[in-house]
Amino acid sequence: MTSPLHSDSVAVHAGREDLTALGVHALPLDLSSTNPLPDLLRGGDSYEAMATGGYPLPDGGAVYARLWNPTVARFESALAQLEHTDTAVAFGSGMAAMTAAILAHTTMVGRRHVVAVRPLYGGTDHLLATGLLGAEVTFCEEAGVSAAIRPDTGLIILETPANPTLDLVDIASVVAQAGPVPVLVDNTFATPVLQNPVALGATMALHSATKYLGGHGDVVAGAIACDEEAAVRLRQVRAVTGGLLHPLGGYLLHRGLTTLPLRVRAQQDNAARLATWLTGHPAVEQVFYPGLDGDPRGLLTRQMRGTGAMVSVALRGGFEAAGRLTSGTRLFTHAVSLGGVDSLIQHPAALTHRPVAPEARPSANLVRLSIGLEHIDDLIEDLDRALAATVRVPSASVLVTR
Ligand SMILES: *Cc1c(COP(=O)(O)O)cnc(C)c1O
Repeated sequence: MTSPLHSDSVAVHAGREDLTALGVHALPLDLSSTNPLPDLLRGGDSYEAMATGGYPLPDGGAVYARLWNPTVARFESALAQLEHTDTAVAFGSGMAAMTAAILAHTTMVGRRHVVAVRPLYGGTDHLLATGLLGAEVTFCEEAGVSAAIRPDTGLIILETPANPTLDLVDIASVVAQAGPVPVLVDNTFATPVLQNPVALGATMALHSATKYLGGHGDVVAGAIACDEEAAVRLRQVRAVTGGLLHPLGGYLLHRGLTTLPLRVRAQQDNAARLATWLTGHPAVEQVFYPGLDGDPRGLLTRQMRGTGAMVSVALRGGFEAAGRLTSGTRLFTHAVSLGGVDSLIQHPAALTHRPVAPEARPSANLVRLSIGLEHIDDLIEDLDRALAATVRVPSASVLVTR
């Protein structure tokens, strides 16, 4: 018996197992929107199989690209191998994936309640709070999950590390409190390189693939790694609501996976050094980065293999200072999103978390940094110069919060 491959090797080879037999080296990209039907009966059976959450029948063809696409399926297979799950289901965005997960575990199974551990990405918080999908939500903290569960609770949602405060949530604790209720972990910040929620007992690991999986700022996509049982319902929702990922996105994400472990570790090295440097900076009130406070609950050892490449900072000069910092950097692009090879800076309360209820919204002096692959000295120099401008604000402006 050969030993299983290390995940760095899986990232390079997963979803490419049949390429040599096909006589090609690069990933095939199939852009077909429709597929020739072998005959009426077999085509119809294949359609039925996919519309109910299954796969195309071998002799029935893929029928229509909203139902299934081979390029996207290759990416799904590769992601599943990295997440150690049966399978994965890819969507046109992280929010399309979240929408499908909520529908598949509420409306579709006759339940109407979701428990959500805050903080969450602003879009997720907003989607749940508005009740747009017909589900009722109870927001709570990690310790309050069991008390929040009702007989009609269909899904529990958490994010760790959470956006934007980098709070860590104990996945095993939430899974224990959940009992039979499925748990979805938004694994966008950790990536499969640093954390595998399903191996820790969660039902699904969700990714905004727009971020680290793509890694180059040129794809909007989402994916959920899970077992086949959950995948059937997710694929059914995807086929019916039209949330499939475009094949070109699947191709780019699959290519992105090959360097994912390398990128995450290199970006993490930069982030850890930057977080330490920021801690001593006079313009900074507090730095949010996993592990800076030691590992008081043991979560970094129990559920993660690293601390990631996202850093948030609370500035002494309030909202005014945040505005100066975000417009004062040169190497860090002032833009939302995260996880790419280049560094980004953004203000969560004004942007990514704007729709969140005031009591749960990030503070006005908080700025979020996505650390890229630039040289650490250049990143520090850029931030140092921009931070210096934040402490030179006139004293009256310091009082402006928001
Ligand atoms: C960006 C993001 C999402 C939403 O993903 P999109 O691809 O933008 O739809 C969900 N969760 C987290 C943690 C994110 O950062």
